[in-house]
Amino acid sequence: MSERILEKLSILADAAKYDVSCASSGSDRKNHNKGLGNAHPGMGICHTYTADGRCVSLLKVLMTNHCIYDCAYCVSRKSNDIKRAAFTVQEIVDLTINFYRRNYIEGLFLSSGIFKDPDYTMERLVLVAKKLRTEHRFNGYIHLKAIPGISPELTHEAGLYADRLSVNLEIPTEAGLKLLAPEKDRAAMIRPMRYLQQEITRFESEQQTMKHVPKFAPAGQSTQLIVGAGQETDRDIISLADHFYRQFRLKRVYYSGYVPVTTDARLPALQSKVPLIREHRLYQADWLLRFYGFGPQELLSDQHPDLDQDVDPKLGWALRNLHWFPVDINRADRLLLARVPGIGMPTVKRICEARRFGDLNWEQVKKMGIMANRAQYFVSCKGLPPSRGDLNAQQIKRRIIDPAAQQLSLF
Ligand code: SF4
Repeated sequence: MSERILEKLSILADAAKYDVSCASSGSDRKNHNKGLGNAHPGMGICHTYTADGRCVSLLKVLMTNHCIYDCAYCVSRKSNDIKRAAFTVQEIVDLTINFYRRNYIEGLFLSSGIFKDPDYTMERLVLVAKKLRTEHRFNGYIHLKAIPGISPELTHEAGLYADRLSVNLEIPTEAGLKLLAPEKDRAAMIRPMRYLQQEITRFESEQQTMKHVPKFAPAGQSTQLIVGAGQETDRDIISLADHFYRQFRLKRVYYSGYVPVTTDARLPALQSKVPLIREHRLYQADWLLRFYGFGPQELLSDQHPDLDQDVDPKLGWALRNLHWFPVDINRADRLLLARVPGIGMPTVKRICEARRFGDLNWEQVKKMGIMANRAQYFVSCKGLPPSRGDLNAQQIKRRIIDPAAQQLSLF
């Protein structure tokens, strides 16, 4: 590899590290004995983190870090005095193929700063994917960033070659976007999302009735929200994520704690950092939305606009809603059981299977994979020591996060 390409790679891979929206799941682009690469599950799935947390390698790079915009939170903003570089389409294609052949990577995540205008930039991203698929018969995973404001035609073409597309909304509130990225238009960011959702649905339904319908973004679309650059609450963020999941069938919303990269009066100070725990709690709340039937208004409200940092969102909800408990292990329906802190969906399944053959007692339930030190305060069943009694939410919380408090209370 030439010195110049190496230098570009170091600049543009470094600039791409702020984008966390490149995990994927659900792609099924099988190699039928021709071509290169394989994104078929179990045979070299090509993304950074799978749904089950497995890490696979991906060339994650920007096409360029030149940008005509000046978003305050972005390291590539035009007013930043940084080293700039740009790859040609052919250079990225060659890098991907060379890295793939050497087993360094299993796929490509390609984003870009905006040079000239959104369509001009997107045309180049699409061309990379097109060349990989058509000239090199590359079947590895491709995730393209859909640049906000691109035309429907380019969005369509991108969907034909990429496994996943993501339009990053970045700033969760409209007011925040106006303040930090005044050149950006929220409607122009939402448009490609809506278009993608309609096309993904259309292609899926055609695939059910017709043969030889091409794949269209088989791993769906995702977005990234930056947390902590503006004044948004967790409620703003989780409500928006819920809206996206419902409205645009997004596969994932990624939450990225703002990393101060530049001095700007509109932003948190350079030394400050969004606590990792905030990002973590948002992911937990997101999980409850997607798999546990919680609504955003249950987890967060006017009175409670931010997630507790000292307890996870499910425990926080349970402590604010003690009137729902205790739930009867042997009678409660699936969704209610899943709301018990310390009982996850796999355990709910096990409990429901087992109780068909007779009532379960606490000793049996404890062996099914529950976190007994939490669940004991929220369930009822035979053999359960009277653990909750008249304890209030504060006392239960204290006992759960500080088991020593439970010991002390005995004396
Ligand atoms: S448009 Fe994208 S790359 Fe350009 S400054 Fe804004 S966030 Fe950064």
